[in-house]
Amino acid sequence: MSDTSSNLPVVVDGACHCGAVQFTVTLPKGRASARRCNCSYCAKRGAVAVTARIDGLTLTQGAEQLATYRFNTGMAEHHFCTTCGIYTHHKRRSNPDEFGVNVACLDGLSPFDFAEVPVNEGRIHPNDADPATCQPIAGWLRYTRRE
Ligand SMILES: [Zn+2]
Repeated sequence: MSDTSSNLPVVVDGACHCGAVQFTVTLPKGRASARRCNCSYCAKRGAVAVTARIDGLTLTQGAEQLATYRFNTGMAEHHFCTTCGIYTHHKRRSNPDEFGVNVACLDGLSPFDFAEVPVNEGRIHPNDADPATCQPIAGWLRYTRRE
């Protein structure tokens, strides 16, 4: 199991479920950058995402297999494989210089490797919120492995 608490930079390979889309990504803040989000889209998608820089992700196969979903302001770009439907990564509205990357697509990593994942407050997007009252973390999602 990977060290999910490490915030040291790490390079990992990833793929969608069917393997049509493959990539290599650098996580500058390590696996500890894992977050969920409770916005209307992420609440349905249910993925845990780690942070990469836009120039830190290289598609090595299947770029033409990816489709992109946008909603609301259309600024975030949510990419998914058109064959298996799995979300691989997205360009963030909160920071267009960053990708969120689906931890379930990363080699040797699973959402169930994280005991606790912070949930970002996405119901009111940070770009729309009053900074004086905005709480960036809505809560924590926990997983306990059966002994
Ligand atoms: Zn696929």
